[in-house]
Amino acid sequence: MRFGRTAATFLRRAWDQASHTSNPSPHLTSRHHESALAVGGRWARRSYSSRASGEEIGRQQKAVMRSSYFRRRGDSYRSILIAVAATGCLGGLYVVVSDSRVDRRDSEGLPPKKKVVLLGTGWAGMSFLKDINTDLYDVQVISPRNYFVFTPLIPSVTNGTVEARSIAEPIRRMCKNKKKEVRLFEAKCLEIDHNNKRLLCRDISDVTVKGKEEFIVDYDFLVVAVGALSNTFGVPGVEKYCHFLKELEDATRIRDTVVDCFETACLPHLTDDDRRKMLSFVIVGGGPTGVEFAAELHDLVHQDMAKLYPSVQEHVSVTVIEAVDHILNTFDARIQEYAESKFRRDGMFLKTNCQVKKVNEGEIVYFDKKANQEVALPFGLAVWSTGLGTRPLVKDFMVQVGQGDRKVLATDEWLRVKGCDATYAMGDCATVEQRKIMEDINLLFKLADADKSGKVTVDEFEELMELVRERYPQIDSFMKKKQLRDLKTLIKRAEATDQTDAVEVDLDRFKMAVEQIDAQMTRFPATAQVAAQQGSYLANCFNHLPFDSEAAQGPVRVRGEGHHRFKPFMYKHLGQFAPLGGEQAAAELPGDWISIGRSTQWLWYSVYASRQVSWRTRALVVYDWTKRLFFGRDSSRL
Ligand SMILES: Cc1cc2nc3c(=O)[nH]c(=O)nc-3n(C[C@H](O)[C@H](O)[C@H](O)COP(=O)(O)OP(=O)(O)OC[C@H]3O[C@@H](n4cnc5c(N)ncnc54)[C@H](O)[C@@H]3O)c2cc1C
Repeated sequence: MRFGRTAATFLRRAWDQASHTSNPSPHLTSRHHESALAVGGRWARRSYSSRASGEEIGRQQKAVMRSSYFRRRGDSYRSILIAVAATGCLGGLYVVVSDSRVDRRDSEGLPPKKKVVLLGTGWAGMSFLKDINTDLYDVQVISPRNYFVFTPLIPSVTNGTVEARSIAEPIRRMCKNKKKEVRLFEAKCLEIDHNNKRLLCRDISDVTVKGKEEFIVDYDFLVVAVGALSNTFGVPGVEKYCHFLKELEDATRIRDTVVDCFETACLPHLTDDDRRKMLSFVIVGGGPTGVEFAAELHDLVHQDMAKLYPSVQEHVSVTVIEAVDHILNTFDARIQEYAESKFRRDGMFLKTNCQVKKVNEGEIVYFDKKANQEVALPFGLAVWSTGLGTRPLVKDFMVQVGQGDRKVLATDEWLRVKGCDATYAMGDCATVEQRKIMEDINLLFKLADADKSGKVTVDEFEELMELVRERYPQIDSFMKKKQLRDLKTLIKRAEATDQTDAVEVDLDRFKMAVEQIDAQMTRFPATAQVAAQQGSYLANCFNHLPFDSEAAQGPVRVRGEGHHRFKPFMYKHLGQFAPLGGEQAAAELPGDWISIGRSTQWLWYSVYASRQVSWRTRALVVYDWTKRLFFGRDSSRL
């Protein structure tokens, strides 16, 4: 009896592992997808470009539903198959399961699923995976990280408020909980061969099969979500002597180094000068991440270390170096002012208008623009948090697709990489290039001039703007910024009148009326919010790709006929936080609301607890916060 239960559990686990998660051998995948490519190519062309009839769409939808039904029925047959395979030859288990998946679609007369390969398991990748329908696509994920990290809490890991594992969620667990059939390869993509739709990947983990570290994965659709690197701006010594704050490993290294600095400073043979240097903590970059880290560090030093290392407390200093006038320069001026005065009150040193020139071992050299002099500041720990740089993989890909002269990979408003097909990019590794109205000005004038009179009336202008405002999101931003209820005023201003609605303008005046709208175009910020919204948006487009070719939901095509298939990506800003330490935070909330103080810190706690990607991490994070409240932060250097 006990043996029976154990065997059943073993078989169930083996089945779960084989069917829900990864194929450990990419060679198998490339074999069965070579055949998929041949058949799938035809299917893709049909669903992508042609407008399938309603009947055909219904047939495809039913076929997918039928396939799910058969999959359920097929489970019992597969269980028998697995039982036989497992008892007889466990090594062959995956082959049976993997091939049966392909055979099943073949026998049902369905084309093989198209292969979508996702690079990266960060914010963009995770939200894409959560929403993509794996009944429609063969989804494969390649990432050197087999987990997702809740990055906004990384600064809290640097001082031990939150444990590293509390903010990491394994991707396999997420897929299993969401019943997604996804194959994950823990590897780094080294090269994208866009012409042959192939990826060169490498297992960069500590455990590899010698001589078999590299492998190739082919794809039908590629989604690039590999994030970005910290940007050193070519300042000498940064790579060698500074810490970055990007990954979870960086945070644990910083935590250990801070504790190390305190322990070393306590050694008996050191002078006070040595101690001051050892306990000088420098943060380069006064953006949200740098400021949050500085605030967390200050709390650690004054709330916990002060009790444990009282003899060296007087030598501690925290300095923030920022190249421009103010810290938090993407925030409202009131928040900047509050943060700066709080930091100064807390005894932190703010060096604004100071530019780092080089970093030597234990010394940072910066140019103080106000004092017009170079200053050398000794440090025990320096953290570099100044912005984002492009990954070599993306740089190389940009050259391939004719974007070699750009700094960031450009996509259109549908997240399609410019210059190549079937490739999408999102998150920090890419930027959405919105189309300027002025690029289409002649076409727009023609579209507005319905009666072909060579002039556009106020009413025609208004109708046009209504028609294209989804295509050019800057129209809405402009109206919001200028607090306009309608755009009639623009055209009246171009004619220098506000008397009558019977104004008519020619092409030149029409240009004058709209050219200021483009000035409102802004890039989406490199944040988790943008990345997550893009992942979700793209997954939804993919989910509708095979079916909704009839029902084009997008805006009217200005350069072509009809409508775009999908609405362009629109970012919805939900506000942003800046934790300032001492249980205080500042927030910019939707609707231009500003909130600062202790109550905002509680809002921060509740928002970040609710935004956790699983109940497990939510429980762990809340537990860590509570633990810190009762027992303080842990200062052991493990
Ligand atoms: C410390 C810190 C705090 C932050 N706080 C906030 C905040 O409070 N609010 C906010 O909105 N944003 C915050 N951000 C920014 C936010 O985390 C990023 O904008 C977001 O992570 C971008 O998501 P992404 O998916 O593009 O990239 P990432 O989340 O960086 O993920 C990139 C993924 O690609 C993988 N990858 C890298 N190279 C390769 C390769 N060659 N092949 C395959 N996979 C690869 C990585 O392992 C990773 O899984 C913070 C960032 C940091 C570092």
